[in-house]
Amino acid sequence: MSAFSLPNRNPPPGQEDYDAAIIGCGVSGANIARRLSMYRIRAAILEKAADVSFGTSKANSGIIHGGFHHNKKHLKARLEIQGNLMFDQLRRELDFPFKRCGILVAALHEDEMKAVEYLYMQGVENGVIGIELCSRERILTLEPKLSPDTVGGLYAPGGGMVEPYRFVFALVESAMKNGVHLYTDFKVCQAAWTAPGSGASYGSGANSGDQSGVWTIRAADGREIRSRYVVNAAGLFADEVSRIFGGEEFTISARKGEYFLMDRLTKARPDRVVFPVPTAVSKGMLVIPTVEGTVLVGPTADKADSKDDYATTTERLEQILDSGKKMIPSLSRGDVITSFAGLRPFLEEDFYIEASKRAPAFVQVAGIQSPGLTASPAIGEYVKDILKNSGLDLTEKPGWDPFVEDRPRSRELSPFDLDKLIAADPAWGNVVCRCENVSEAEIVQAVRLGHDTLDGVKYFTRAQMGRCQGGFCTYKIIKIIMRETGLSYDEITKHGGASRLLTAALGQEIR
Ligand SMILES: Cc1cc2nc3c(=O)[nH]c(=O)nc-3n(C[C@H](O)[C@H](O)[C@H](O)COP(=O)(O)OP(=O)(O)OC[C@H]3O[C@@H](n4cnc5c(N)ncnc54)[C@H](O)[C@@H]3O)c2cc1C
Repeated sequence: MSAFSLPNRNPPPGQEDYDAAIIGCGVSGANIARRLSMYRIRAAILEKAADVSFGTSKANSGIIHGGFHHNKKHLKARLEIQGNLMFDQLRRELDFPFKRCGILVAALHEDEMKAVEYLYMQGVENGVIGIELCSRERILTLEPKLSPDTVGGLYAPGGGMVEPYRFVFALVESAMKNGVHLYTDFKVCQAAWTAPGSGASYGSGANSGDQSGVWTIRAADGREIRSRYVVNAAGLFADEVSRIFGGEEFTISARKGEYFLMDRLTKARPDRVVFPVPTAVSKGMLVIPTVEGTVLVGPTADKADSKDDYATTTERLEQILDSGKKMIPSLSRGDVITSFAGLRPFLEEDFYIEASKRAPAFVQVAGIQSPGLTASPAIGEYVKDILKNSGLDLTEKPGWDPFVEDRPRSRELSPFDLDKLIAADPAWGNVVCRCENVSEAEIVQAVRLGHDTLDGVKYFTRAQMGRCQGGFCTYKIIKIIMRETGLSYDEITKHGGASRLLTAALGQEIR
């Protein structure tokens, strides 16, 4: 539980009655919450982790897809196209790294060009702006680091990159600024529906069409809130949450995507996201210039053993590198910093977003695999409409403020601007993370915003994300968190729960 008392985070007892509760605070829940913050309703987000964006939304490719990979008969394709177009305005309003760097699909054999032409036609039908079928010469001009074996391909200039966790943090900050409550460490375990004039029934499973009751929702630690409407945006665990509410029975399986992360100094960094020609089951393994300057190679697409199986394997990582090198031959093992994996919540081909036919006043937002990040702003719109059609009164809130403060980052500042900040606060001059150039002031800011686990600080500031992966800065960050929060060394965690780092002996050293 956060040591800070932040306005609207884990509010004290006495404020437990809401019009809408969103279960899960990944990119879907965060967009829904921010959209609902525009109306005169009381809304809450219930998140089981210690911070937001600790589920699938923390480990993905970060691509704002170009709108040509899926046929628009699928809901996910329509939401992807709409979501993509919403990012410019979101970036103007919120503080998160975003760049429209463009997307290439590179064909390495003439026989792949048929599939490229198919994607191009699909993109044209989907209304993708500026999509281009490229000759060999054109694609090599767009990306000179591509293999000389490239025979042609596709270019979608509207594709881009975001830092996914910073996007979620900014959305949640905006929602909270506009009155939404965030409950963390709130694992939804039980739910009871009370219809007017009747007693509570747990996991009722009977949607008579009358939505005028109220849900009582209980967390694993015994906390309770009540809400008239509930949105299930629980990612990999949306099947469990649906069962808790007596909603539809379905099974979410986890599909693992493994990556290599490469140092920002690599010479192989392309200017645009490079896709291979996709297969029937996957978009393939890509070379991704992250918005913050590093390079990702991956992901794989394999059935995971469990919903907690984030292990990477030497065998798959070898395949990733081989596959990346076919497109960009200068990729080198020497530039690899680390490997990691993300888990896609797989349900069926399409997203499952609709009002439950079984549980009253309950909306399913499940199976949000790729392109869920791209589609997420449009998912917020779509779910708002479902709630409205289900009877939730949505009257606009006067004074809704769309903006979140743009915070400076040391590594992006000119020496002149940095000097001005140091003069006001010397903590700007104390570089804590040397690899990513993160100052003490930025870490303090993260902690004061409630990101008080090591991973929370990492995702907010990038400290521990560089070449040394926290080897030099972790203990300094622990000390700052201890100083800012008053937590003792054995209460500092990597990502909440039991993920404590320090034994008594080590803790004494650090103090
Ligand atoms: C390898 C990989 C690559 C991807 N690449 C891209 C890409 O480049 N572009 C793109 O558009 N999309 C991409 N995606 C898809 C995208 O990451 C997901 O669609 C998106 O992050 C899903 O967000 P979500 O909010 O639905 O789920 P999540 O982020 O998983 O959020 C669900 C939240 O619910 C919480 N929760 C679960 N159970 C409970 C409970 N009982 N009580 C309270 N809280 C609970 C979890 O802790 C979690 O925080 C990729 C996915 C993967 C895995």
